[in-house]
Amino acid sequence: MRSIKGVLRRMAARAEAFVKGTAFDCRSCGQCMLSQTALICPMSCPKGLRNGPCGGTIGGMCEVYPDRQCVWVRIYEHTAHGGTDTPKLNPSPDAALFFTSSYANWITGLDKAGTTPLAYLDLPPHRVAQPLATKSRLEAALKSGRFVKTCEIRSPRNADFARLDKEIRAIQGHFDAVNATAYLNGKPSLPAARSCIELLRFGMEPVCQLTCRDVTKTSFISELIANDANGIHNVLCLTGDSYAGNPRIKQVFDMDSSLMVYEARHLREKGVIHFTGEAMKEAPRPFIGVAINPFTTPMDVPIRRLKQKAAAGADFIQTQLVFNLPAFEEFMRRFCDEGLDRELFLLAGVPVVISKGAMEMIPRVPGVDYPPEVRRRLESAKDLREEGCRLAKETVAAVSRMPGVRGVHLMLFGADHSVLPDIVGELGNPIGGTDAR
Ligand code: SF4
Repeated sequence: MRSIKGVLRRMAARAEAFVKGTAFDCRSCGQCMLSQTALICPMSCPKGLRNGPCGGTIGGMCEVYPDRQCVWVRIYEHTAHGGTDTPKLNPSPDAALFFTSSYANWITGLDKAGTTPLAYLDLPPHRVAQPLATKSRLEAALKSGRFVKTCEIRSPRNADFARLDKEIRAIQGHFDAVNATAYLNGKPSLPAARSCIELLRFGMEPVCQLTCRDVTKTSFISELIANDANGIHNVLCLTGDSYAGNPRIKQVFDMDSSLMVYEARHLREKGVIHFTGEAMKEAPRPFIGVAINPFTTPMDVPIRRLKQKAAAGADFIQTQLVFNLPAFEEFMRRFCDEGLDRELFLLAGVPVVISKGAMEMIPRVPGVDYPPEVRRRLESAKDLREEGCRLAKETVAAVSRMPGVRGVHLMLFGADHSVLPDIVGELGNPIGGTDAR
């Protein structure tokens, strides 16, 4: 038998959902943010991010629905008031309040945990000059002041260690750190952490990618514990691409990428799991990376988003693919002007396009700024492998001259990793990465 109180609550929730759904595209989260987001509902972001935008937005448009303006770009436009202040860090919504009345939750105070911005950690200024804080060899390389080189391996779709080991051997000893990708496009693969163990076996420093599309807070912290136990000391906190819901999976988004950073840094600084409040002995101390899309417009948006990620506790950034050098140079100027170069190590994402099939995918990669002249150059190349490597070398040379760029992160469009060492060859050998197995 339903209680009168329960019936009234449900009626209030339905009436609110109807009215606010019509007026604000409300998704009935039950802990309303409209007063802080210029009456634009953050839950109408297809990823439901409480802090955004994700890296898939380009030209101010949404990754999932390219004909719609990005919800978070709109929120920034309406709340920035011409400034570039660090945005507040919104907490995750409490799932227990979904489909309840936000007015009722506001009156009872139940909504507070989901609407009160988190207090940023008290981190020292000029963080790039602070002593080493983790066991990461990438941190040591970056803090040594030399120009750093990283690249990535694609975690195989099955337990194909022969292929994985071949990729690793091709780059062994030439890079300061190597990312292992996590469930690209939301499709199953060998977990990134297992690929990282393979990198360690070859004496290489791994960066474990994790996406909030695929992990809850519980599984995220658990992954950090497992990584710590396995000697993996770098994590890259990503949103995860969407591919418009294909394949059809439940996308988790228990956190956004800024909240992942906050959880990881809170654990490292305080030895306490933020979301449970529990202390942990021998807590993991990861070196924390994030991604940013410098080509999101207006440029204040990625600058403010980076400030938020820095304040949440990020140590380093790997950028979206740099095809548009003038736009990237402008971004780097803003990055330094805003003082972000004193807080974050930035690695420029350099595309290495060597395969025709992979090249044809570039326009469909979320968030990529692919100028027509660069596209024509690659598409009309007689020898794509040669031209793709030449373009990558030119990009490395150009970004290495830009103030604030601390290194490059090569991203291969093709299958032959043996081309990568030559592209960064003139930058010198990484320290301690020459273990020949
Ligand atoms: S923040 Fe929550 S309650 Fe407010 S409009 Fe959006 S979904 Fe509805």
